[in-house]
Amino acid sequence: MIQKILIANRGEIALRIVRACRELGIKTLAVYSEADVQSLHVQLADEAICIGGPRGSDSYLRADRIISAAEIGDVDAIHPGYGFLSENAKFAEQCESCNIKFIGPKSKSIKMMGDKAIAKDTVRKVGVPIVPGSDGPVETETEAVKTARKIGYPVIIKAVAGGGGRGMRIAHNDVSFAKEYHVARNEAEKAFGNGAVYIEKYIEKPRHIEFQILADSHGKVLHLGERDCSVQRRHQKLIEESPSPFLTADLRKKMGKHAIKAAEAAAYENAGTIEFLVDAKGNYYFIEMNTRIQVEHPVTEECTGIDLIKQQIRIANGEKLDFDQSDIKFEKHAIECRINAEDPARNFAPSPGTIGLYYAPGGHGVRVDSHAYSGYNIPPYYDSMIGKLICFGSTRKVALERSYRALSEYLIRGIKTTIPLHKAIMADPVFIEGKATTAYMEDFMNRTP
Ligand code: ADP
Repeated sequence: MIQKILIANRGEIALRIVRACRELGIKTLAVYSEADVQSLHVQLADEAICIGGPRGSDSYLRADRIISAAEIGDVDAIHPGYGFLSENAKFAEQCESCNIKFIGPKSKSIKMMGDKAIAKDTVRKVGVPIVPGSDGPVETETEAVKTARKIGYPVIIKAVAGGGGRGMRIAHNDVSFAKEYHVARNEAEKAFGNGAVYIEKYIEKPRHIEFQILADSHGKVLHLGERDCSVQRRHQKLIEESPSPFLTADLRKKMGKHAIKAAEAAAYENAGTIEFLVDAKGNYYFIEMNTRIQVEHPVTEECTGIDLIKQQIRIANGEKLDFDQSDIKFEKHAIECRINAEDPARNFAPSPGTIGLYYAPGGHGVRVDSHAYSGYNIPPYYDSMIGKLICFGSTRKVALERSYRALSEYLIRGIKTTIPLHKAIMADPVFIEGKATTAYMEDFMNRTP
């Protein structure tokens, strides 16, 4: 039985993991950088060890220091959260070889699904539809142009090692393609240390719909329904909800089956996500698998009533999932707004600094996952998300009204945040009608002064 977990992350997800461990009676060891001494996860964990300087590359990305901390702290498992080392197959392997349980899939599955080209090929072989594109990375510019013409413009150039919407460029003809191809390669090289890119048909105005998977180590693979993450800015999610206002019961069933097939093809264990793009006609295409817990996991938790972090820990502990597909009910509607320390009026420039007053909303159907508090200093070294507001109710209408109400109560003084933007979206007829595609944000920003 797992008795002590090292949390190899920071911010709200580190806090979320501390909370799950507390309820399970598991001890926690936080690791932190010099910039996070005041962080809530450090204060609330049972123990804490400083692992280095403020930059991620000096702390949360240092596998060697994290494993040393795990050994000193005598933990039996590591939860990687999201980002940082969560999808690093080598780190998972190191944990495996030190006999420390990595709370996530086996390193083999991370490797397979972490390369987007291999992932697409793997799921295609078991009959899951994929976006038409190059079979694997394109090696030269000549080959790339030839492939783009064959697929037909517009196309999207994507980093094989991609993530967080980086290394992605759209081209509408040969001339723009030549330019964007080099930009994408450079961006990918800089962001991931791997310049390899592949090409896909650019699906116009799709919905981003992803399925939550839970798989135990005894061969049971289930899906917990979908999340609609179409509201994005620069391919980065801003709002997520479950269920999707677009999916019919029929389409959910079909996509859910394919999501399970895709996870099975990767011999997947633990929590993971199968991402699809869906066009207006309901054609859907696999784009990638995320082999970790995701930022937006709470909407699935509130919709289904299942605690995903606890399930992750139980699965890593070798336990069987004690429910079946037919037991999973989508009884609530949940919407999540990402609260970022950014200034929407200044092209979403980061707005780090000290929070003066912090007051989080509450009441019926409101959940706030955040590490922020009055007087908290937001370090400039990490991503700008300082919290997530998740509102839920029996219908989408209730969840929407509740979101608007909770956003009106949410006070964060001293810095700029995305709260006013979310409020405007919750009152926007296009969003209210459930018509948002991935093109929504651009249109919304153009429409609103
Ligand atoms: P990342 O791993 O960087 O998040 P994804 O492959 O998950 O990249 O894609 C992120 C977003 O980029 C998608 O949700 C979608 O909005 C857009 N996108 C990706 N591939 C395509 C495509 N083939 N056509 C249209 N949009 C795409």
